[in-house]
Amino acid sequence: MADHTHIVIGGGISGLSAAHYSVHAGIDTLLLEAAERPGGCIQSTAFDQLDGFWVEAGGHTCFNSYGNLLGIMEQLGLLGLTQAKAKRSYKLWVEGERRGILSALHPLELAVSLPGLFRVKKEGKRVVDYYGKVLGSKNYRDLFGPAFRSVVCQDADDFPAEALFRKKPRRKDVLRAFTMPGGLSDIPRGIAEQPGLTTRFGTRAEVITRDGDGFEIALQDGTRLRSERLTLAVPPDAAHELLSGVAPDAADAIRDLGVAEIDTLVMVFERAKVGVDEIAGLISVDAPFRSAVSRDFLADAHYRGFAFHFPAGQLDEREREQAACQAIDARPDDAAAIIHVRNRLPALRAGHMEKVKALDAALRGTRLAVTGNWFLGVSIEDCVTRSRTEHERLFGPIANPALSAAAG
Ligand SMILES: Cc1cc2nc3c(=O)[nH]c(=O)nc-3n(C[C@H](O)[C@H](O)[C@H](O)COP(=O)(O)OP(=O)(O)OC[C@H]3O[C@@H](n4cnc5c(N)ncnc54)[C@H](O)[C@@H]3O)c2cc1C
Repeated sequence: MADHTHIVIGGGISGLSAAHYSVHAGIDTLLLEAAERPGGCIQSTAFDQLDGFWVEAGGHTCFNSYGNLLGIMEQLGLLGLTQAKAKRSYKLWVEGERRGILSALHPLELAVSLPGLFRVKKEGKRVVDYYGKVLGSKNYRDLFGPAFRSVVCQDADDFPAEALFRKKPRRKDVLRAFTMPGGLSDIPRGIAEQPGLTTRFGTRAEVITRDGDGFEIALQDGTRLRSERLTLAVPPDAAHELLSGVAPDAADAIRDLGVAEIDTLVMVFERAKVGVDEIAGLISVDAPFRSAVSRDFLADAHYRGFAFHFPAGQLDEREREQAACQAIDARPDDAAAIIHVRNRLPALRAGHMEKVKALDAALRGTRLAVTGNWFLGVSIEDCVTRSRTEHERLFGPIANPALSAAAG
């Protein structure tokens, strides 16, 4: 007999939303997560020694266009806790100085190129080809290319254009851009702690095999668990590994999907120790980091915090701290707290959507779902939307009217 009706592997927002939909459908659900905390790429890092001051080491902003996420937050009573983000500007960091975004814009080229928005098809194009056309090649080189790189924390030229921004309806009753009192991690925490959901953290799934009509999951500690249905919500390389024992066709379809590794540096300073005026963050044109996001969107009387995102393995910790401090007029030795963490994001490439279609074809008719940030796009809402459609494939339509409205 199965230990659980449904097991979800991966406790980032994709797995948590899959588990949420399942629990709300009255299904006995267990969520397994390798790390000791929920949230994956959503990791609001709080410093006890600094009165709980926190900085986002990963995802930092949700929007009122995140309809499926908002539906879940509403059900858990989290929607009333959203905090408005103060408007601050991003700056370019180029040739060792901070410059206004508009300084890099070529307005004439933009005016000539923009009508292409109505003519040029996004589907099947790489970001560099599509946006180079509709914004102009010089605008792409000097401004939008670096900006897109900073959004996906990696080279964005080869990304499929349709995976970068998707237009979604906005909810007028919700703040346009928001965070939470303890940072975005309040959302995964709220989902994980809801009644009815069983969670196991620090638990890595190693191998999946068939067990009759269901699945057997071998955990790193040697334990085996059985479930009738299974959802994988792990990065593409981990999904490939896990699928190979149970659905070789599905594993084959995604065998060469890449993952970009990101060395994220979080630094906190007393306010007086940072020279730069309040900013939303930095878009790097030619520095070793790709982007920086500040905590200035929720000002604190004592501290300021920054997360700098570097391509992994290129600089050592001290070099990263120096590069970051140069960009915000601060000194590494003045930092009140420093941590280094590793982030991972899918490295989507042209032809990606065909691989997703092949994976979906291999999954059709099975009791196995696969979700993540490598289907529709990398945003938090893209993850939740994929989890919702996979839930509906495995368990049928979601009946709750609030959630149906959110899917809009
Ligand atoms: C620096 C950064 C900034 C971002 N900013 C934003 C933003 O502002 N707004 C936005 O919408 N999006 C943002 N994103 C994107 C968004 O945060 C992510 O795409 C999303 O959180 C990914 O969720 P996920 O659950 O698909 O994957 P992950 O968060 O990667 O979760 C996967 C989980 O699976 C676990 N796992 C892996 N293998 C196993 C295994 N074998 N057994 C058990 N568990 C396993 C991992 O430990 C991990 O917790 C940002 C991302 C980054 C990195």
